[in-house]
Amino acid sequence: MAQLIDGKKISAELLDNVALEVADFKKMHGIAPSLAVVLVGDDPASQVYVRNKIQRANQVGIRSIEHRLAADVTQSELNDLVDELNWNPEVHGILVQLPLPAHLNEEDIVNAIDPCKDVDGFHPLNVAALALGNPKLVPCTPQGSMMMLTQTLGDLTGKHAVVIGRSDIVGKPMAALLLQSNCTVTMVHSRTRDIEALCRQADILVAAVGKPELVKASWVKPGATVIDVGINVTLIDGVRKLVGDVDFADVEKVAGAITPVPGGVGPMTIANLLQNTLKAAHVQMFK
Ligand code: NAD
Repeated sequence: MAQLIDGKKISAELLDNVALEVADFKKMHGIAPSLAVVLVGDDPASQVYVRNKIQRANQVGIRSIEHRLAADVTQSELNDLVDELNWNPEVHGILVQLPLPAHLNEEDIVNAIDPCKDVDGFHPLNVAALALGNPKLVPCTPQGSMMMLTQTLGDLTGKHAVVIGRSDIVGKPMAALLLQSNCTVTMVHSRTRDIEALCRQADILVAAVGKPELVKASWVKPGATVIDVGINVTLIDGVRKLVGDVDFADVEKVAGAITPVPGGVGPMTIANLLQNTLKAAHVQMFK
């Protein structure tokens, strides 16, 4: 049976560390690091994500400022708010919860955020810095997944990593981080031929697809480390259940180590958001 990679435990350790560093920051600068969270509309999943982020921020001593905007807010009103937050020296991190309602242009909003306050790591300058091997603020989910991998495997040099999914927020930055850790990286996606055979070559398999239990034991090399980024809501016998992109019950029989869903990558994402906020605050103090 595979070793369980416990995201709750690893993220709790990271949060303890962040809380200690936040306390030091307060002593040194007389203020708390602060995170502005912008929520547009009333998407129920986004509301839950924002609530969790704010709750965790408060737990580690990071000041959170919530901005709730109506679903019909205009692009220029949202841009004005981002601008105001960019200029506000008491705001160190800005997070605009995605997805935005269809009439708003997400790319414009992401590009409008000051790259030094871009705690999601989505701004083109932060994307470029990562691609050039000089990361500044890195997207939280891949960064958290890397922490789990290094805690489990130590040095990743020379390992063959296969990333399923090529999104800008998970797949691409994950591949860049693995490459930076000297892995041999293969990216596979919806147009890849014989995906199963490619995945079977992986020492490290990362699934970021959004398809419930897509990855079966037959896709996994015995002993491989499997990181399941997927969060999918399913109905099993009429009961709502969260499952990943990996068929956990099947894959745990062959994998060497595996993350569960829930309790795997999810908690790492929030912990890394707060770590990024602290990092952004430090950078701004010395600007
Ligand atoms: P996305 O929809 O932007 O991208 C999905 C990618 O999967 C695409 O690149 C597509 O090419 C690929 N794909 C689709 N069908 C495929 C198939 N049958 N075979 C191979 N590849 C296929 O999704 P995303 O934003 O990258 O998120 C992926 C999953 O991760 C979702 O379930 C999402 O909810 C979850 N997620 C979790 C966290 C977390 O904190 N744990 C954070 C972000 C996203």
